[in-house]
Amino acid sequence: MDEPALTGGICVGCGICCDGTLFRTAALLDSDDTAPLESARVTLVTRPSGERAISLPCTAFRDQCCSIYDVRPHICRAYKCQLLQGYEAGDVSYEDASGLISATLALRDRVKPVLVRLLAVDERAALEELFRLLLARFEMGSPFARPLPRKVDLGGHPDDVLDVLPMTEPASRLALLAGGATVGELATRQADLLRRYHFATDAEHGGDRDGTLAERASVSHHLGDFEMARSLGVELVDLRTDTLGPEHVDTLDARECVAVWTGQAGNPMRARELHADLLADRSRILGETHDSTLGSRHELVDWTGLCGDPEEALRLGLELLTDLVRAGRDDHSGTLALRHSVAYWTGVSKEASVTLRLYVELLTDRQRLLAEDHSDTLATRSAVAYWTGAVGDPQAACDLASELLLDLVRTSGANDPVTVAVGRAAAFWSRQCDPPEP
Ligand code: SF4
Ligand code: SF4
Repeated sequence: MDEPALTGGICVGCGICCDGTLFRTAALLDSDDTAPLESARVTLVTRPSGERAISLPCTAFRDQCCSIYDVRPHICRAYKCQLLQGYEAGDVSYEDASGLISATLALRDRVKPVLVRLLAVDERAALEELFRLLLARFEMGSPFARPLPRKVDLGGHPDDVLDVLPMTEPASRLALLAGGATVGELATRQADLLRRYHFATDAEHGGDRDGTLAERASVSHHLGDFEMARSLGVELVDLRTDTLGPEHVDTLDARECVAVWTGQAGNPMRARELHADLLADRSRILGETHDSTLGSRHELVDWTGLCGDPEEALRLGLELLTDLVRAGRDDHSGTLALRHSVAYWTGVSKEASVTLRLYVELLTDRQRLLAEDHSDTLATRSAVAYWTGAVGDPQAACDLASELLLDLVRTSGANDPVTVAVGRAAAFWSRQCDPPEP
């Protein structure tokens, strides 16, 4: 190897592959001399497969570099992360690589203690493992479903928010280290959205302030800036109230967006209140059986659960489901979406086998009514994979997630955030079948 890790270049000051951030162990070969490791008080362990390995964090990693560099094992000589490979190939500059490493170390030091607390796991867990666990937990429902929590508060600092789907900047840094989408690809996606935001001006919309606000709010939402989306949405509601009247359907629709973004911005209690107010107004103005009124009832189901009351969410969901079936709307897309929510809240409040049965039944109906590649069908397959693992069959869960992954790569591309998330879910279940360390 030409420029080994931890001797110079970008590796000095990094050490993420040695300090337990990425991996929990590093495998040794029979030909590795363990004497230098033992004299450096490196802890050696035996993997379940019988391989000898260094337990990470490695005690030979001192002062930000390897203290036994000349006699380090083969694996340490051979390993190169994607960033190092890009740097050595000349695709990434020294400044960009160093900046990314510094930002990643700072991000790790902020998020890791909170992730450990949030997931209640061993603090020796590697960051990639924690991140995959987090994604797997959110896979319980659907990566596509509207009402699932999109943000995890990691401790109060505004930057300490990991936006799981779509991946935003903090997650993209972790994804780079974990082998997901490149920062460049994610940056291009964000730049396109920002360009759309800045082109959304009153002049561009022919002086139409309503169009400008609606476009900017929508783009802010896609960028993951839910607070900005909410604030622009409030402006839009005020404008429509003045120009169209408070009971116009477009005013009511804008109120629904504000309610959703309020929740996504971190205030689910207020979101539930706003949805309840809107439901009352839609029932009065549009009638109990109008699609929008039924949509508000569904929103109330989910935000009730997100406020920490899954039993009440399930009760409301089953009540609405009964009404929809009684109205002969069994195959309506809104009814299928509600069944997804009912299955989700069942999963939070009841045993896994019931939840798996609900998702399997839903998948059968979605495959009957929708295309195989429809995002709702794929989302339900993801949930079936998760709950198959949750009932104790990680091998089948891994197989289902892997099959889904192939379809997502074909339909959405390898670097789509949902594809990356399902890939991690497959890896997660694979590890449950075969626990050896990385
Ligand atoms: S994670 Fe990559 S850049 Fe950092 S020390 Fe390891 S090989 Fe070098
Ligand atoms: S021996 Fe050196 S290169 Fe290998 S894990 Fe330990 S500190 Fe890192």
